[in-house]
Amino acid sequence: MSKTSYSIAVLPGDGIGVEVIDATLAVLRALEGRIGRRFECVKHPAGAQHYLNGGDSLPDSTLAACRAADAILFGAMGLPDVRQKDGTEIIPQLDLRFALDLYAGVRPIRTFAGLPGPLADPRAAQIDLVLVRESTEGLFYARGRGRIEGAGDAAEAFDTMKITHKGTARVCDFALKLAQQRKARGKPGRVTNVDKANVFQSMAFWRQVFDERAKAFPDVPTEHAYVDAMALNLVMKPWAYDVLVTENMFGDILSDLIAALAGGMGMAPSADIGDDYALFQPAHGTAPDIAGLGVANPSATILSAAMMLDWLAHRHGDAALGDGARAIEDALATAFAKELVRPREFGGKSSTADIVRAVVDGL
Ligand code: ATP
Ligand code: MG
Repeated sequence: MSKTSYSIAVLPGDGIGVEVIDATLAVLRALEGRIGRRFECVKHPAGAQHYLNGGDSLPDSTLAACRAADAILFGAMGLPDVRQKDGTEIIPQLDLRFALDLYAGVRPIRTFAGLPGPLADPRAAQIDLVLVRESTEGLFYARGRGRIEGAGDAAEAFDTMKITHKGTARVCDFALKLAQQRKARGKPGRVTNVDKANVFQSMAFWRQVFDERAKAFPDVPTEHAYVDAMALNLVMKPWAYDVLVTENMFGDILSDLIAALAGGMGMAPSADIGDDYALFQPAHGTAPDIAGLGVANPSATILSAAMMLDWLAHRHGDAALGDGARAIEDALATAFAKELVRPREFGGKSSTADIVRAVVDGL
């Protein structure tokens, strides 16, 4: 017998984080009766405003609540010009990534009928891909460890790229399993490994580990691509890809590129997933320019909540949650396709509340 109630640690954060989280909680509440499950959503403080008020940007009690919950739903954090006492930026999501070992950064992108994207080719209506970014090592291993040797004209700066067998194998396994899950949902179920194996020892090693892991998934077709060619192809023919997996820095860059394919920041959901914990949040930031106006597009956060339900469905063997995820995606897609709503960032007039109402009515 699977669970009927799930605890969700909710960290709204700053700016529009608060607005898109409230919007998403309303959608989850509307779903509860329909799928016969309860979501115990409890809000916890974190972020720049909490820091300004005299707290920590990520209080220990909030971190403990994240560890204790079944899943974490995260808004956005940070305010212009607010920094920690030591001058560093307030990025609790990075702290959580390391504290909970969330090694797979998952960025799905799809186009929606009724919402214009940036590509004129009619095949762009078929874009439906997921980028999996390794999130604990790669070139980001250099963060806080860089060094400059010498001075003046002779100065030389160095950063280190670290690729480990363990770190690569686990994220490649994640991408290969994701391809199997997508195949079960009628998608291609293919993995493109993105690297620069022709130039870097570290990337040649990454490719070797990918190939080794791919042998354990004989049912998943795989291919290799160099990251420079991938940047070109993600603009020229993004509809040709299903699951992409890559190193941390390449993933950082390509995830912004694919977010653009959906036509707006408010359409890009994301998840940071580890073996024991998972955090779901929109790919966008706190958008200080529109905060408090009630016009933020909540779609990215609503779609992140659908990813959360899919993750919980697999983890707890609870098919009702997978049905819930599909219901949310369908309600949002229908609202756009029937032009019941159009977000402001697409030139429409719909407020955050209008979009929530359309999704809730659809459910
Ligand atoms: P961060 O450093 O946290 O990534 P940022 O300043 O780079 O923040 P965002 O906060 O994501 O980026 O904002 C970038 C632009 O996109 C802003 O003009 C913002 O208004 C817009 N934007 C971001 N999210 C949304 C949303 N959900 N709905 C509408 N517009 C958005
Ligand atoms: Mg940004």
